[in-house]
Amino acid sequence: MAEAYPWQDELWQQLAGRKQHAHAYLLHGPAGIGKRALAERLMAHLLCQRPTAQDACGECKSCLLLKAGSHPDNYILEPEEADKAIKVDQVRDLVSFVVQTAQMGGRKVVLIEPVESMNVNAANALLKSLEEPSGDTVLLLVSHQTSRLLPTIKSRCQQQACPLPSEAMSLAWLATALPDCTQDERIELLTLAAGSPLAAVKLQTQGVREQRLLVVEGVKQLLKQQKSPTQLAEEWKSIPQLLLFDWFCDWSSLILRYQLTQDEQGLGLMDMRKVIQYLAQKSGQGKVLAIQDWILAQRQKVMSKANLNPALLLEALLVQWVSLPGQK
Ligand SMILES: [Zn+2]
Repeated sequence: MAEAYPWQDELWQQLAGRKQHAHAYLLHGPAGIGKRALAERLMAHLLCQRPTAQDACGECKSCLLLKAGSHPDNYILEPEEADKAIKVDQVRDLVSFVVQTAQMGGRKVVLIEPVESMNVNAANALLKSLEEPSGDTVLLLVSHQTSRLLPTIKSRCQQQACPLPSEAMSLAWLATALPDCTQDERIELLTLAAGSPLAAVKLQTQGVREQRLLVVEGVKQLLKQQKSPTQLAEEWKSIPQLLLFDWFCDWSSLILRYQLTQDEQGLGLMDMRKVIQYLAQKSGQGKVLAIQDWILAQRQKVMSKANLNPALLLEALLVQWVSLPGQK
């Protein structure tokens, strides 16, 4: 059975308690808050032959088939490879599923995640299924970024915002999910994950805290001229480039913010506060703005996986970073 998260309780009661269901739901919200699990839970509930007010029964034929991954009336559409697009051919297969009659005599349920990974052709192919509901079919669309969806897709779904848990609730949940971390480490992970608890767990399993430690130490050594940009680019080559650019982008924003406000509460995570403060005091604002523009532009290229030489790009970043303090 899909995991149930405490911050979804209210929304779940609302969804599970409905007498009538929308033909299509758009479950949206930031990544890493459990939208997929919510959609799977709803899928099981909608397919179950003896659902309770709380959940699917877990024991009927429908529940057992779903668990075994062989339910004939459920369909999951997602990219064939992670981070790739959902192809138009995949959507065509889905469309022919939607027009069939349910084999178990109940509903058919379709789950699509993430909806924004469909290109325009794929999205247009899906529209037909959204426009002409077939029998008792419910479509569950999961989106991390609704701004990337066609308006025609959005308007045909009942939109359902999924909540980001409060910090206290996330930390309580993380205490169980990451029992070996200290509370400070959990706070750090949650901050790095922009408040999304599931993303925080993922960062921990990917070793992001260790990587951050390495990078923060490196930046300090760079500024003390104990290490060169070339050395650091070599040491950091196994760290995801996007992560590095995100951190440097954050740091440049924090420097600017401190220059403008002198607010010591706004210096970000503990590990870099002193460095941020130092750079804010020693660097001209024009230079910080320029490096931030540059970082944002390069980050865009890293995201689009344009053909780059990662080591050279990182070195270029560090050469500029080390020259921040000094002449205003
Ligand atoms: Zn059941």
